[in-house]
Amino acid sequence: MAEALGAFFESPPAGIPGELIEAFGRRVATSDGVLPPRVFLEVVEQSPVAISITDTRANFVYVNKTFERLTGYSYEELIGKNQSILSYKVTPHEIYQQLWDNLLAHKPWSGVLVNRRRDGSRYLADLNVSPVLGVDGESSYYLALHRDVTELHELEQQVRNQKILIETVLDAALVIIALLDEQGRVLLDNMAYKKLLGDMRGREPAEFFLQEMKTANDGDVSSGMVNHEIRYQPDSGAPARWFNCSGVWISNSGETADSYFVQGEERRLLLMANEITVQKQHQERIRTSALQALMAKQQLVHRTREILSGAMFRFQGPLNIVTAALAMLERREGGRDDPLYRILSDVHDSGEKVLESLDLSLPRESNEPVAPVNLNEIVHDVLELCTERMLSEGLLVDWQPAQAMPTILGKQYALRSLLKQLVDNAIDAIGEPGCKHRELTIGTSACDECVELTVRDTGPGIPRDRQFRVFEPFYSGWIHRTRQAGMGLTIAQEIAIQHGGSIHIDTQHTDGCLVRVILPLKPPAYLLSGA
Ligand code: FAD
Repeated sequence: MAEALGAFFESPPAGIPGELIEAFGRRVATSDGVLPPRVFLEVVEQSPVAISITDTRANFVYVNKTFERLTGYSYEELIGKNQSILSYKVTPHEIYQQLWDNLLAHKPWSGVLVNRRRDGSRYLADLNVSPVLGVDGESSYYLALHRDVTELHELEQQVRNQKILIETVLDAALVIIALLDEQGRVLLDNMAYKKLLGDMRGREPAEFFLQEMKTANDGDVSSGMVNHEIRYQPDSGAPARWFNCSGVWISNSGETADSYFVQGEERRLLLMANEITVQKQHQERIRTSALQALMAKQQLVHRTREILSGAMFRFQGPLNIVTAALAMLERREGGRDDPLYRILSDVHDSGEKVLESLDLSLPRESNEPVAPVNLNEIVHDVLELCTERMLSEGLLVDWQPAQAMPTILGKQYALRSLLKQLVDNAIDAIGEPGCKHRELTIGTSACDECVELTVRDTGPGIPRDRQFRVFEPFYSGWIHRTRQAGMGLTIAQEIAIQHGGSIHIDTQHTDGCLVRVILPLKPPAYLLSGA
């Protein structure tokens, strides 16, 4: 090795400036001879970076092996030639200008140039140039290190293009999309998301959706959610909007230096939401129409039953007289032979038959099951059912629901009929002559072990002496609507009693009518047993 070094210093490779060889020599003198000077040259020769040394006019005086490999030129072809041999004319002139301006100011420069190899192919050179200053402080040589960064650039471009492509596709999608980190911060979103952000007046939609999904999942969304329906009620009072939301967790490789060897994992939540307001409204319309049809049918059954029962009741009166007359005749001696007895007997028998057939023709009430019922939902349904009528009558509706409404056990169709009857009555009352205000107020509240429903109208009200009579069958006190059967409040009362509750007209209330319905949370045993 010592011999080889000696040979190197005696006759260094052609083109290596004497000052550099001298510098190696100086370095060795200060390193106790531990590091042979040849090592410095070998390091430069074998460096994986393309290294070149030029004079101050950029003419090559030295290039290493990597430089030869990268450019395709041999050492001999390059020495004495200018660095501009690599120049490919797409690099803007200003870039070269900056390079030279720096070097002339004795400052290093780094940047990227498009270089051309010997075979004409191009590559991107990530270049670092610096002046080598002599003892006089002037540049005597320039040192250049450069790497081929074409592949890196291609990869960067691919990533950028893919990002643009993904963003374009995301933006074109109608689905609301946002990518969140584990803290719920939005990392990426699309146009549909941005639009919703605007609609929600700056309230972060992702935060809202996440909160709703957490509430529905007992606070746990760690395994994601699929097709979760979320209702959003704008503060402006605009109609509610509906979204079908899904959240999928994605595991990303860690991007920090710390996770280079130890594979760290970062979880991202891909949130997707589809607006389904139109479908929901359509469903709601269908449900309302079905409810309307069902309630009309129930009301018809109720009314028919009540009318037939009333007819049977009234028929029973004369029949009882016939029965009494027959009994009297039977007690009298020879009474059974009296022709009147036979006539009365025939009348009695045919009367009984009529009653029997009337009883048989009574339409049967459907045996609705008892289930948990929320009175607020019942009010919502009934208001939906009556919207058209209230609009056409020009009514103002004030709906004051209890914020926390306990559910009661009951028959929801029957309870809906009850409330519908009260609302229909209130609308009729407001349509009566002399009514100045046209206002209907519905309220719900929870009390001890029961819930209360109130319906208040600004109609003529019910005089005290009729506040009980109005619940009697066939009673009707309307002036305008004379052809009403007068069974509405009777049916409503029957339903309230069936649920173990009560219904009454508030005697303290003036300026219209206030009906109060009180229902226990737990109905009587007979309702539960279906008896
Ligand atoms: P040129 O006429 O050669 O140069 C363009 C401009 O550079 C001129 O208008 C002038 O303003 C300035 N300039 C040129 N020579 C000098 C000078 N001696 N003193 C002051 N200003 C001058 N170019 C590459 O394309 N690829 C490389 O890898 C590369 N590596 C370089 C490494 C070093 C150490 C140095 C000093 C230069 C390097 N250059 C490189 C720049 C190269 O010398 C050319 O300037 C460049 O290639 C443009 O060549 P050109 O023939 O288009 O124009």
